[in-house]
Amino acid sequence: MHSINFQNQKLTPCKIVCIGRNYVEHIKELNNEIPDEPVYFIKPNSAIGDRLIARKGLHYEAEICFLIEDKKIAGVGFGFDLTLRNIQSKLKAKGLPWERAKAFKNSAIFSKFVAIKDWQGLEIELYKNGELVQKGSVELMIYKPDFLIKDIDNIFGLDDGDIIMSGTPKGVGEVKAGDIFEGKILQNGKILIDVNYKANKEALPKNSS
Ligand code: ZN
Repeated sequence: MHSINFQNQKLTPCKIVCIGRNYVEHIKELNNEIPDEPVYFIKPNSAIGDRLIARKGLHYEAEICFLIEDKKIAGVGFGFDLTLRNIQSKLKAKGLPWERAKAFKNSAIFSKFVAIKDWQGLEIELYKNGELVQKGSVELMIYKPDFLIKDIDNIFGLDDGDIIMSGTPKGVGEVKAGDIFEGKILQNGKILIDVNYKANKEALPKNSS
């Protein structure tokens, strides 16, 4: 099983629940409709990774991620909800499930998680090759963390170690090999997490030359 790091302890999340459309500006950039209830999808434990591997159609979505304990937020981390946008667009057009585009290996990339007392004032920033490309905050979310936790627990059940990826602000884009990303989580202006990733090339299959 894959694990994440919370306060220097290894935890093994059973599942990751993702919110599909939680920032108005991001809904507009993908020409989606504003939902009348939250859009949820789930990534399995096997989707967890800590490396960014560039491949065709791969988009980054930077998200504020919550670690759940006792049906409450215990910690916060920076996460990439990696998406194969070309495949997702095809699946959406046909009304098919999104797993091939959202739940593949290494599609959930997490920083370490740190303990927080409450979610007010949380912000996320993503820099790509030194340029700010995504910025959002809990205040801009359509569905706030308190609502999400209750709603997700009612529908799916929330267990200790589960992670909620709370949706991406506008500014999503392609991951190219060699791109350098810096992700930050702040609370009331104070940096809680500052993490760097370099997008690597996809490894070639072993017997290809
Ligand atoms: Zn997302």
